[in-house]
Amino acid sequence: MAFAEITNANMFLITLLLLSLSSIPLSSSTITQDFVMCLVDNSDASFPMDSSFFTHDLNASSFKQALETSAQNLRYLMPSKPKPEFIFEPLYETHVQAAVVCAKKLRLHLRLRSGGHDYEGLSYVSEMETAFVIVDLSKLRQINVDLESNTAWVHAGASIGETLEQDGTRILYKWQQVADKLDENLFIRAIIQPASKTPKSKERTISVSYQGQFLGDAKRLLQVMQRSFPQLGLTKKDCLETSWIKSVMYIAGFPSTAPPEALLAGKSLFKNYFKAKSDYVEKPIPIEGLEGLWKKLLEEDSPLTIWNPYGGMMAKIPETETPFPHRSGTLFKIQWLTLWQDGKASEAKHMEWMRNMYSYMEKYVSKSPRSAYVNYRDLDLGMNGRGTDAREWGKKYFKGNFERLVKIKAKFDPENFFRHEQSIPTKFK
Ligand SMILES: Cc1cc2nc3c(=O)[nH]c(=O)nc-3n(C[C@H](O)[C@H](O)[C@H](O)COP(=O)(O)OP(=O)(O)OC[C@H]3O[C@@H](n4cnc5c(N)ncnc54)[C@H](O)[C@@H]3O)c2cc1C
Repeated sequence: MAFAEITNANMFLITLLLLSLSSIPLSSSTITQDFVMCLVDNSDASFPMDSSFFTHDLNASSFKQALETSAQNLRYLMPSKPKPEFIFEPLYETHVQAAVVCAKKLRLHLRLRSGGHDYEGLSYVSEMETAFVIVDLSKLRQINVDLESNTAWVHAGASIGETLEQDGTRILYKWQQVADKLDENLFIRAIIQPASKTPKSKERTISVSYQGQFLGDAKRLLQVMQRSFPQLGLTKKDCLETSWIKSVMYIAGFPSTAPPEALLAGKSLFKNYFKAKSDYVEKPIPIEGLEGLWKKLLEEDSPLTIWNPYGGMMAKIPETETPFPHRSGTLFKIQWLTLWQDGKASEAKHMEWMRNMYSYMEKYVSKSPRSAYVNYRDLDLGMNGRGTDAREWGKKYFKGNFERLVKIKAKFDPENFFRHEQSIPTKFK
């Protein structure tokens, strides 16, 4: 909305806003000032400066807090990583629209952040553009549920038994054969990591935990397990009957005493220096492949790998129906992770271990392309602007849908305004 059209009350608000802007040191805040002026011109909702804008010059500690609160990978918060000129936290949808209009007009490079979970920090760090700003959507948390149409409209900032060793390799081999074919109400994933030494085993060993969710009662689950996966040896005491929301909290790692309201805090339980990669598996990994993997895992300090079965509804949707292409024929997805505590000091060592392990696994996982899961963002696969053909990484995430995505991108964002190191390009190369 233009100045000429605003009411008296709004005029007062804008006067206040301009007064507070004048307290920002001029030298480093011109971009912020121009941006705010433009926002005022383009939105009819007010912008409370102290809760919407964060710049290092205005208030270093609240800027740091705004930058770090939802950022998940500490690797991308290190002092050597580029920092945004400012962070804008819109309070209304019209703020977001105005932010896009103004960033375009002022030629500012935008990074949009919803939950801040991007594995390679792409929502809060740009290494391809020198100056950038963050539009952080964490204050847009409305959720509207329409029971009649069975749909929900969720704003972008909204957040939402174990066996050890004992012939673990053979059981995991069996899991690979059955996990995607189990009863449709049953999901069992495998979580694999080195286990610390115990009085029984003096050496570090590999632990495989099976975490499951069954939509039904324990009695029926035991019948299903007896029929399809008796090797796991599930008993009644391994089962916990609970509400669906509590099961979500259990899988997310909350303590059993935490109330469901804990989910509303929007705070992650996981904040680490980490590197992740992913794979898809189409044929069970043979026993010798698993044994070689155990050796690799035991070389690293804190590796973790999570194997999620596909099948069920995932396999019923045709590969070309949505951008997500990993459908029928996929047995399970692997997430590879390595975590560390001392920042830059040991980063190179962990990155090297990860790349080495990934290369070892090549012959056991999907091929042509070796697919990957876009939510487990991995910049090793390739980046825009590095002279590589975007298809090299694009096909891993999206298979044959990548070319269609490029066409759509060229149609709706021909200037490539929304871009980052692995955004869909408007053309190849
Ligand atoms: C602890 C943890 C657990 C995870 N668990 C799972 C899991 O179980 N399953 C799974 O599939 N994934 C999981 N992930 C990965 C996660 O789903 C992805 O990283 C996802 O992209 C996170 O969304 P976000 O809004 O938090 O990301 P952000 O970091 O905010 O954004 C991710 C990317 O999308 C862009 N973006 C953000 N908002 C918008 C917007 N409104 N419009 C356009 N672009 C936007 C950003 O600029 C960035 O490029 C996990 C990640 C973490 C850190």
